[in-house]
This record gives sequence, C-alpha cells and structure tokens, in this order.
Amino acid sequence: MDLCLAKARSCMKTQYERSRVSELAHEVLKQKQFYYAGKPQISDAKYDAMESELRKLSPSHPVLAYVGAAPSATSPRITHDVPMLSLNKTYKVDDLHSWVGEEPIVGTPKVDGNSLSLVYEDGLLKLAKTRGDGRVGEDVTDKVFWIADCVPKLSKKLSIEVRGEVYCSAHKFAQLVEEMLERKLERPTNPRNIVAGMLGRKNHIDLCRYFNFFAFEVIGVDGLKTEMDKFEFLDNLGFSVLPHKLLKKAAEVETYLEEIKQWMDDDEIGYDGAVFSYNSLSVQSRLGNTSHHPRFKMSFKWPGLTARSKIDKIEWFPSRLGIITPVAVIEPVALSGATITNVTLHNAEHVKAYNLKRGDLIEIIRSGEVIPKFLHVVTPVEGDFDWPVKCPSCKSKLEFDGVRLKCLNSDECPAQRSGFILNWMRAVEIEDISEKRLEQMLSMGLIEAVHELYTLSVKDFLKLPATKDKMAEKLYKNIQATKKVPLAKFLNGLGIEGAGLRTWEKIIEHFPGLEAIQRITAEELVEVEGFAEKSAEQIVSGLKDRKDAIKQLLKVGVTPSVQKAKFAPGEGPLAGKQFVITGALSMPRETIEKMIREAGGKAGSAVSKNTSVLVTNEGDSSSSKMKKAKELGIPIWTEEALLTILRGV
Ligand SMILES: [Zn+2]
Repeated sequence: MDLCLAKARSCMKTQYERSRVSELAHEVLKQKQFYYAGKPQISDAKYDAMESELRKLSPSHPVLAYVGAAPSATSPRITHDVPMLSLNKTYKVDDLHSWVGEEPIVGTPKVDGNSLSLVYEDGLLKLAKTRGDGRVGEDVTDKVFWIADCVPKLSKKLSIEVRGEVYCSAHKFAQLVEEMLERKLERPTNPRNIVAGMLGRKNHIDLCRYFNFFAFEVIGVDGLKTEMDKFEFLDNLGFSVLPHKLLKKAAEVETYLEEIKQWMDDDEIGYDGAVFSYNSLSVQSRLGNTSHHPRFKMSFKWPGLTARSKIDKIEWFPSRLGIITPVAVIEPVALSGATITNVTLHNAEHVKAYNLKRGDLIEIIRSGEVIPKFLHVVTPVEGDFDWPVKCPSCKSKLEFDGVRLKCLNSDECPAQRSGFILNWMRAVEIEDISEKRLEQMLSMGLIEAVHELYTLSVKDFLKLPATKDKMAEKLYKNIQATKKVPLAKFLNGLGIEGAGLRTWEKIIEHFPGLEAIQRITAEELVEVEGFAEKSAEQIVSGLKDRKDAIKQLLKVGVTPSVQKAKFAPGEGPLAGKQFVITGALSMPRETIEKMIREAGGKAGSAVSKNTSVLVTNEGDSSSSKMKKAKELGIPIWTEEALLTILRGV
C-alpha cells in the first residue's frame, strides 16, 4: 500500500476516534445525569455498551470516573468523608473466576435501588445522604425518617456510618401509584425511578414510607474481621440485611448465581445482578480502591437484552390455585436469538399499577434462559386498564384480593382441577404422563380427582389415544409405584400455597407424622424458626382445604412414610441442650442444625442465657454472639468437638 495513503488512513482513524470519544463522553455524562435524576432515557444495556466503548477508546477519560451526576443546586450538599464509589462490573463468569482467585468471598443479590448513607452519632440518626457524584451527595435526612428500615435509634450508643440501598418493592410500588394518582401527581414509570425522584423532592415526602432499605456496609466499627461479621453486626443493630452467603472457592460462584437467579426473577424486590466481596477485611484494606471502584468488590450482571414492542392484547390464564395470571401478547420482536410474542405481567396488581392495555409501547428484557419480563411502559396510549370479571375456565365470578385475581370455585374449576392433579404427579414423581395425556384423561372422563389416578386399571389406559399394551402397563405401574411416598413429597403434592418441599421437610422435623401436621395451629407453626405469621396461616388453612383430598388419597392406599427418629423426644446425646452457631462451618448451617436436632438437641439463632454451647471454627471471632457467649460464660466448642459427639450417635 502507498505509504502516504496508509498514513492518511491512520490519521483519519485517530481523528474519527477523537470525535467519537468526545461524542461518547458527552452522551455518557448526559445519561448519567438523567439516571441520577431518576429519569433514565435509555436502557441499562445501551448505556453500558456506550460506556464500555468509551473505556476502550479512552481508558482514563475523566467522565468514566464520575460515579453519578453532581447533585442539583437546590438541595443542601454534603461531602462524604469516605467516598461512595461505584462497583466494578462484569457480565462474564470467567472474569469473576479470575478475580476471585483463592480468596473466600461473600455473595449477595444486587438490589436495583439507590445508594444511601446514614450517619449516626451516639446511636442517633443525624444525617442521611444520597450518593450524588460519590464525593458530594444531597442531604435527605427529612425523607429517611419515613423509611421504616432506616433505624432512627440504634440499640447501642455508636457513632458509625451505615450504607445501603433504598428500594421500592413491586407491591409497595402499586400502592404508591394509587396514592400518587389520588394526589393528582404524575404516574411514576417504575420503582427505581420513583425512589430517586422522591428523594430529590421537597414535598409529599411522606410517600417515602413506601420504600425499604437494605444495609450492606458499616464504617467506623473496630474489631470486625470479615464481611460476614459486618452483616451479622448490622443484623444485630436491627437493620434489614440482604441474604448473604460465604463462598470458599471460585468454583462455587456459578452454582451460587444459578441458585439466586431461580428466585430473584419472581421476587417482589427488583434485582439487577449480584455483588461479591472478599470476606477478609484485612485483604480488603490491603487492596484498597481505584479512583472509581473498590478492588475488593465486583458486581455481576446477567447479560440481558431489552427490546420494545406494542401490546396487542392481554390474556388471562388460571393456575392450579385459581390465580388468574396476565400475559401480554405483543407484536413479535427479535430478542437474543428468539422471536418473542408473549411477556408475563406477573399479576393483576401489576397491570393496575402500570395501567397496562392494548396499544401501550413497552420495554421488555430477557436475560439468561428465562421468559422475557416486562420492564416499564415507554409510551402509553389513552385509556384505562381492564381485567376479566369471569374465570376463563369455569366462568365463575373472580375476586381481586388486592394483588391477584382469583377464581374461588376450587372444587369445580377445570383449570384448577387439572392443575392440582398435574402438581401432584410432579411432586410424587409419576413418570410418562405428560400434561397433554392428563388433559386427555380428564376430557375422556377417566378421572376427575387426584385420588382416582390410583384406581385406574391397565384397561383404562388402553382407551387413551396412541396407547398400546406396553405403554398402558407402564403408566399403570408408574402410578402404583408412587403409593408409597415420603411424607414431605405427599404434602408438597397437595399444592398448598406458601409451602414448598423444603418447608414441609422442616415442619416434619418438628411434627413427625401426617396426623400431627393436620392438627397444627398457626401459633405452633410460628414458633418453628423462620415462619412468618402470614405463611403459617396460609399453610394451616391450606391443610384444612385439602382435608377431603387427603382422606381420599389415604383411602385408595397412598401411604405417606416418615423416617423414624433415632431418639424419642427428650432423649439423645444432645437432649436438653441448645446450640448456637457463629461463623462458617464446613457444612451448610442448616445441615448441622438438622444433625443437632436429630441427636435430641435444639438449634438457636441468638445467644441468650438459655444457650448451652456456642459452636464456631473461629475461636478468635469478634462476632457479637461470641462476645455475648463469653460474657455469659457459655462453653465454646469447635465444629470438630460437636461432630465427634454426633458421630458416636
Ligand atoms: Zn375457574
């Protein structure tokens, strides 16, 4: 190639790059300002792409170091003594692996909210600040007193700073929308934006009572050694903390991400990824910060692609519990290699909160393998939302319970009946009967209720389309094989709202036997650790509703079995002793607690005068449980000491 031409080309390229850099820098800064004002104009994915292009072209561009927009001139500005940096972010699990290296880390889900700093003096909340640009934030103290989780007075006279995330859950958002419309305020676009918007307002600040706060950072406390200690410390002070988990190896990261992804998408709270921190605080302080982010923290986001499309219509589907779920049929749009035509709209309350209807232009997101999710309305059309008055399956009148539309005709609604049977078949693991086959069995009148599965003969199955001798025999055998079923699976098969397999296993530990469980009261359930009053009531009333179904199942010979406990109540090597665990052990805490109970002992969550032994592998731990145990003179055992006794069982 002509040397002159080559030179000209490279010159052109740099010139192009230079103008591209300033164009990008301008746009990134502008979008940051919109974002922090609570009115983002583009999707996160688009913004991230722009920012990473800028980083590639000009890695040290000053715009990249801005954590947020400078606070508006009208609110009082407050400097952060310790800067509130943003987090280094990756979309790749491989990046996480190499960052983790050999260090134990702590993982938490990442709430899609707004960062906040609470400053306490002698235990009293004196000042609350937004993040602002990371160095200077806005004083929002008057608003924060409306947020219940922002503890106004600590149980101890400490002078500390607590940081965390303010957010608005889906249910509270719906209530907030209603109240804002009553006050003739503009309809908010989504939970994240309204939090930022409300914190920047001067009036209607009482609406901040619809927000919540998760604490994840504390500054100014001596003696904490690990990130896990920090969470325990904040928890003991009365703050809500995010679920957090200690991961000892990089290899555990992937499983952890899968685990949280499973529940995150359907949760009331909006999440947008996960955050990982090195557990050791001395490692953290050794690594320190760049001007932009701490080196000891890393956030992970699932690569999610967004798209926009118009709602063509909203369809409503009844489930096995009679809940009628809305699904938007949208104009087909391509998204991460698939053509999307349906988007779940969660529940009736959601449709109401966002005033969703035919013609609305909406933004949707698809991340990982999950079904695309509705994000927010881009351009609404005139008019009001609308929902069905009758059940699409049985035509009986629907009821709105404040969150969901429900068909109360549980005995006769065909959709609920088939949903109930399908749930049973999955729970007790009846194989080879697909949903389609079940529909055939129902429509041909072979069965009407779940217990009738067990009275079907090989002959009955031969009546099904495309079912020959061999298959009919197999179906018969598969069903009969599930007559002997573990009690937890039996109960799970009853499809009671608010209880999954793990819940039943836990209940069985305390109430071993079907009869005992059918006699439980809500009060008794609440005493079992981890049961909220509402879910206890749900479970008890669910069991009552299933009384007939249970009776019928037992009558046809279904026999739920319970593993016999090794010891009678009040016996066993740990009988009469209460154990409390602090710090990480070699097995999940739940497993060890189960072993303790099986050996006749009790597992407690806090150290008190009733505690017999504190179990820990960190003899030098400075956790509050450890301090309390030492104060009360409670014996401290290592995990090994406990296991030695348990092994002798
Ligand atoms: Zn119905």
